[in-house]
Parts: sequence; structure tokens; C-alpha cells
Amino acid sequence: MKKTAVVLLTLLLATAGIGGPILLAIEESQRQAFKAESAHALGYARDVVMRGDETAAQVAAAVKRLAPYADAPCAPASIDLMREIDLGSTYIQAVGYVEGNRMLCSSIVGSARVLELGEPAYRSETGAVVRTDVHFPFAPQYAFLVLQYGSYAAILHAQLPIDTAKSEPDVSLAVVPLDFYAPISARGHIDPAWSKRLGSAREAVFEEDGHVVAVVRSSSFGTVGIAAVPLHYLEDRSQDFAARLVPVGMLAGIALACAILYLARQQMALPYAVRSALRRKEFFLEYQPVVELRSGRMTGVEALVRWRRPTGEIVMPELFIPIAEQDDTIVKLTHQVLELVCRDTGFYLETHPDFHIGINVAPADFHSPDFLDKLQATLEQMGAHPSSIILEVTERGMLDPVVARETSGALRRHGFAIAIDDFGTGYSSLSYLESLELDFLKIDRSFIEAIGTGAPTSQVVGHIIAIARDLGLRMIAEGVESQAQAEFLLRQGVQYAQGWLFGQPMSFAEVLRRMEEAEELAARVAG
Ligand code: C2E
Ligand code: MG
Ligand code: MG
Repeated sequence: MKKTAVVLLTLLLATAGIGGPILLAIEESQRQAFKAESAHALGYARDVVMRGDETAAQVAAAVKRLAPYADAPCAPASIDLMREIDLGSTYIQAVGYVEGNRMLCSSIVGSARVLELGEPAYRSETGAVVRTDVHFPFAPQYAFLVLQYGSYAAILHAQLPIDTAKSEPDVSLAVVPLDFYAPISARGHIDPAWSKRLGSAREAVFEEDGHVVAVVRSSSFGTVGIAAVPLHYLEDRSQDFAARLVPVGMLAGIALACAILYLARQQMALPYAVRSALRRKEFFLEYQPVVELRSGRMTGVEALVRWRRPTGEIVMPELFIPIAEQDDTIVKLTHQVLELVCRDTGFYLETHPDFHIGINVAPADFHSPDFLDKLQATLEQMGAHPSSIILEVTERGMLDPVVARETSGALRRHGFAIAIDDFGTGYSSLSYLESLELDFLKIDRSFIEAIGTGAPTSQVVGHIIAIARDLGLRMIAEGVESQAQAEFLLRQGVQYAQGWLFGQPMSFAEVLRRMEEAEELAARVAG
């Protein structure tokens, strides 16, 4: 990727890093505010339902008490009971006996005066008759609600069920019968159709017409309580939440953006750091023993590069090889690795032509025109023979099949051995087998790990061994950590292995010391 594109992408990510948490904080404030306002509206709607239910229950109880007086409903005894009910109830203003649209006698005026009630506004399916906006000559300024069951009716204050939320007069409230789309009692703007939104639920909350609306169904009567809280409450509350959450979001955003910028700077700086490490010769090699499984003898080593940074920190290849592989830095690195191999092992190879060193090479090395020349020059310097070198090629990066065949052919003609590394982990393992001229196949650690585990990949190692055998390739198993794995591989005909069971990567001096020790032991056993 071009540098400007990387910079732009980083800036974009950093901006998103700051903006993301802030947007999340704003969204969360709105969510929290809606939740709080929903609870606010629901509280009022439940209160309205409870008041409506209690009123209706008191009226029903009153009617029941008056039933025995049905033969003489306006006799003094009946009127006395009406007065008693009236005084004893919290919601009922008066009770009376009704015929047609007229209250013939009542607790308020006895039988001295007939009260005109007017036409009912609504008759419920359960037999309740409701008259709204009823006025009486003795209190013409007040509107009353008259709720009638059978021949008896109660006079109620029109605002009684909604006599709540007094400190918030802009909250609209209503009691609405479910089968009649006009409120029995209402305050403010209420759309009776809101009750339809309830469906079969007991409660519903939604945003509509500039309000947070809560609808609650009565469990005893066919009515609903509705409360509509204007949106400005929501906005005020949302601002309150935002005032607390947005600064937190901002801090999180800035921290995230800083982390993105820091990582990007490090990432962008790494290719330069690798190049300067090459100039400053900060790379060194460790060598991991490769043993012949049959005899347990160390027959060679694999050279593994490490980077010692000026701070003393040791960086492992998995962090910088992929970066070096992004351009021709890897070719320079391979060259330096060759020089290091020459310096560390040259004197030994000169006298031990059977010992082999595995050197990891990248596809870019194969494409580099002077790769073979450099290799030969290095060997000459070492006084070593090409057959001591195994070049390990991985599938990372693209290797042109024609170049692969030509280069591997030329290298083998000159006596070098070629291994396919990490076999089975890339996309093109099988096509590599076709295009490369090979001597060794290195079975990847992941397949060795799976041996005997019952994992789906545990069978793969058997297939890889069969392929290698068919193609006449010698095998090196990587990452052997247990005796059981080593024994299994030996039984399967794998010739060589490397892994922690035999030794971790170490200095070449340590390799020599171990070999000496083994020789001494063998001599003692023989002697
Ligand atoms: P690789 O060539 O497959 O090397 C084997 C890796 O497996 C090494 O990691 C080694 O330390 C590790 N290993 C060996 N035995 C065991 C074991 O028993 N258990 C476990 N868990 N790990 C084991 P390392 O040294 O980190 O190298 C990683 C990779 O970096 C190498 O994989 C190779 O692809 C690349 N690399 C290393 N040195 C060079 C180099 O000089 N040039 C190039 N182009 N690539 C290199
Ligand atoms: Mg390797
Ligand atoms: Mg490998």
C-alpha cells in the first residue's frame, strides 16, 4: 500500500476512533433518556388506570348495596343508604336512581328534585352507561361524569381518574374505553386511537406526535389509561445524560485515537527500522538441531534469524520477516543471513561436509537474478560444499511457477538441496510440489501437534507422508515436542525431525558443545 494511502487510512481510522465513542455516548444518552421518560409516562398511565378501576369498583359496590331497595328506590330508607354510600366513598360525589335520562332521586337532593342527565355518551359491552360533561343547576360551573350500572348511577367529578401529575400540567392524561374511541375523562391532547397500539399487550410505550406515549390496559374493566409526556422532557433528560456520558466518550475516543496513531506510527516506522537494522547489522542467528530419527544423531541445524534492537530487546522473525517480504528488503536480509551462516559455521562445514544447514529463503530470493551467484560466493568463502545447504522455501508470497522450476532446477544442478517449508499450511502446497524441484518436505508443526489428538487434522500427517513417499522426498517433521510424536513419525518412515524434544534454537557454539557431548557419550558406550 502506498504511504499516502496508509497515512490517509490512519487519519480516517483515528477520526473514526474519536467520533465513534462520542456518537455512541450520544446514542446511549438518547436511549437512557427514552428509557427514563418511558418509565415516567408509564407511571402516570398506571396511576390513571388504578384510579379509574377504583372508581368503577366503588360504583359497582354501591349499586350492589342499593339492589335490595329496587321495589321502592326513592323511599326514605333507600335515600338514607344513598347518603351513607356517598359520605363513605372517596371517589363518588353522589348516587341516585335513574329512569331513562333522569335521576329521580339521589343522595344530593333526595327525591325533592329530578335531575336531567342527558343522553349517554357511551354504553359498554358489560352494561355500564357513561355520560360525560353533565351539568347540574345547583353547580352549573362544574362538569360531571355519570357512571350508571342498571338503574343506579354515580355522579363523579369529571377529572377524578386523571387527577394526578399536577406538578406537570403539560402531561396529557385520559381514560379511554377500548371499544369506544372517545375518552371518558381527559386532560390535554390525547388521540384515542393510541389505544390500538396496545394490540394484545398489557402495556405499550412509543413516541408519537411529539410525545412519549404510554398506554396501560385495565385488568378489571375494558378501559385503558393513557399518558403522553411532551418530548421536551425527553430532550432535557437526554441533555442531562449527554452532559455526563459525552465527556467519557470523548476521553475514550481520544485514548483510542492516540492508540491508533501510536500503532500506525510504529507500523509505518517498522520497514525503516528493519532497513536500518540491516545497515547496522543488528541481526544474528540461532540454530535449531535437526536429528535423524532412527539414530537420534544431530545431522544438521536450521538457521533462524533474530533481531537484537539497540534497546537490547530481541525481536522474533514472525514480526519482521513479513515486513521485509513486502519489498526487496528480504533479499538483503537473506544475503546477510548467508554471511552470518558463513561466519558462524564456515569453519565447521569445511571439515564436516555431511552436516547440513537449513536456510529459510523467500519467494523474492528466487526471483532475484544474482541469488545463485551470491550463494556460491558465500560457500566459496566458507570453503563449504553446496550439499551442506538446504534452502527452505515457504508459500508466503507468490512464487511464479516458471521461475520456481528454473531457479530450483539451477540450484539443484549446482548441488544445493531444496525443501518445501511448512508444507500444507499455504494455499498452493500441491502446486508447489509440481513446480519446484525438491529434495525435502518439511511437515508443518500444526500437523505434528495434531498427532494422536483425535482432531480432524490428526489424519493429515499420514496423507502428507504418503505424498512425500510417492514423490521420493525425504521428510523433516517440525515442532516435535514429545517422545510419542517422535516414535509415531519414525514408525511412519519420517527420516528427520526438529523440535523442542531435541533442542530449542541456540547459538552455534552451543550446537557444537552438544555434538561433542554426544560423541563423548557414544565413545564411552562403545568403549
Ligand atoms: P520455520 O522455518 O518453520 O521455523 C520453525 C519455527 O518453529 C521457528 O520459529 C522455531 O523456533 C519454531 N519451533 C521449532 N521447534 C518448535 C517446537 O518444538 N515447538 C514450537 N512451539 N515451536 C518450535 P522462529 O524462529 O520464530 O521462526 C519463525 C519463522 O520465521 C520460520 O518458520 C521462518 O518461516 C521464518 N524465518 C526464520 N528465520 C528466517 C530467515 O533467516 N529468513 C527467512 N526468510 N525467514 C526466516
Ligand atoms: Mg524453516
Ligand atoms: Mg517451518
